Amino acid sequence: MYSHHSHSLDYVAHGVDCLEDVVARANEMKMELFCLTEHMPRIDAKYLYPEETSDSAEDDLKTLQGKFDKFLEHASEVKARNLPTKIIIGVEVEGCDTNHIAYAKGLMEKNANVLQFCVGSQHHINGIPIDFDQGEWNRALAYSHNNLRLLARDYFEQQYKLICELKPLVLGHFDLFRLFCSKDIFFDSENGQLVSKSAPNAVSAASVSFTKKWDDIRLLAERNIRTVASYGGLMEINTSGLRKKLEDPYPGREFALLAKNIPGTRFVLSDDAHGVSHVGVCYDQALKYMDEILQLDELHFLVDNAGTLEVDSIKLADLKSSPFWQQYG
Ligand SMILES: [Zn+2]
Ligand SMILES: [Zn+2]
Repeated sequence: MYSHHSHSLDYVAHGVDCLEDVVARANEMKMELFCLTEHMPRIDAKYLYPEETSDSAEDDLKTLQGKFDKFLEHASEVKARNLPTKIIIGVEVEGCDTNHIAYAKGLMEKNANVLQFCVGSQHHINGIPIDFDQGEWNRALAYSHNNLRLLARDYFEQQYKLICELKPLVLGHFDLFRLFCSKDIFFDSENGQLVSKSAPNAVSAASVSFTKKWDDIRLLAERNIRTVASYGGLMEINTSGLRKKLEDPYPGREFALLAKNIPGTRFVLSDDAHGVSHVGVCYDQALKYMDEILQLDELHFLVDNAGTLEVDSIKLADLKSSPFWQQYG
């Protein structure tokens, strides 16, 4: 089994367990591959999360830099142990603005001896975090004129910039903006405007179809997916969505099925673990999703061939028959 995306408490404030324990758990579960992909340091105090802030923004930004340097060192040391679970080292890059995209590029180049790939992630829309809490998500929505269709449009436009500039090998949580699409917020199913529950055409954010009625969103999503496929990038199925009680992992079925039908799309699996209990979390549900909902023929994964990353695949039928699944209740 494989995970292409993970974190730990040592190197990110919202982590749960230390890197050693997370890696030990991946080994205990007999994972074949576990990628360590800590967040890149943010370089603007505007993007610090509350748990990262003290009296001095300058110190806080320096702390992020210091932690990332230590991560590179520690991850290299873990990788060199040649544990049964193979380690590939990457970085989760931030597409919050053009400065961060440029910084990510420099960071990858500067540390090319350690960083083997990046997970390309969009955690902000118009500079506002969309996966922190409902309040921030609502603020991002308000910035997009309280229109869910515009919010999704802004998201995919910003994600496209990240894709074009950085060509991430793994595109992270494709439709992260769905995280706080609550069943208690209602939108006009035609134009996407925030409305009351009783309004005609009102549909809850949790049951909005982004791609069926909203051609502009479908086209933007398809463009982004096609671009990733064009340079050999991989589309991540990320089970943190399930862990956070969404119905589907990222991407949800409408986007995943869209991706499946685009030639060249290759799916990989990630747990986006931040702690021991997140390693391989909801993989049994993800298997069902890949098999029954997406009806994938195969799952892809990265292989480190003497320092060069290659992409291999396993037939879903073979994946299903792995003894790995005996660990799930
Ligand atoms: Zn992320
Ligand atoms: Zn992550």
